[in-house]
Amino acid sequence: MAIDSPVEPGSFHVSLTHLPRRPGNMWESALEFIAPPQLEVGMARLAPGSKMPADIRIESVLDGVLVNLDFEFEVEAECARCLEPFMWTDEAHVTELFLYEETDSRGRVIPAVLDESDELTVFYVRDDSVDLLEVVRDAIVLDLPLSPLCQPDCLGICQECGEKLEDAPHQHESRDQRWAALEGLLDPPKADPLG
Ligand SMILES: [Zn+2]
Ligand SMILES: [Zn+2]
Repeated sequence: MAIDSPVEPGSFHVSLTHLPRRPGNMWESALEFIAPPQLEVGMARLAPGSKMPADIRIESVLDGVLVNLDFEFEVEAECARCLEPFMWTDEAHVTELFLYEETDSRGRVIPAVLDESDELTVFYVRDDSVDLLEVVRDAIVLDLPLSPLCQPDCLGICQECGEKLEDAPHQHESRDQRWAALEGLLDPPKADPLG
């Protein structure tokens, strides 16, 4: 699908001008967002300024629009074991309902009264567009790993000298001796149960 850029660079606002408000109408497009800065979980973060290709499908429903979005994003991270920086491309899917704002008889928007007991976040169609920044951020934050690993069986770094064990597998003589001494303390010779 050709990119007809329905979003401005740096924006997550998608215009609904191509979508009639009658339920059953649908609009699909390929688009591209630019990754916002400061989206980070622990040692992993969205690569700021990177391109986020996406496929969007928006359907008119009775009281709003239903947005289906598939998107890819670049992640930068440091390995939780060996601290080596690495990158990968991830993908996420979001489905979110955006409600039309209520208007009075003159077409003026009636501000929505937020029910504080309602823990669900409600999204609204504003200025005939939907702002996807928050739903995209939420999806990425949920997806980022708390302990990113450069490879599933990363050996990490040597506790003794800080060297990466993947590059130079080794053991330290002094450490082995300490362990041997400790093991001696923790595991004293058992008394013979039979006396
Ligand atoms: Zn690693
Ligand atoms: Zn070492």
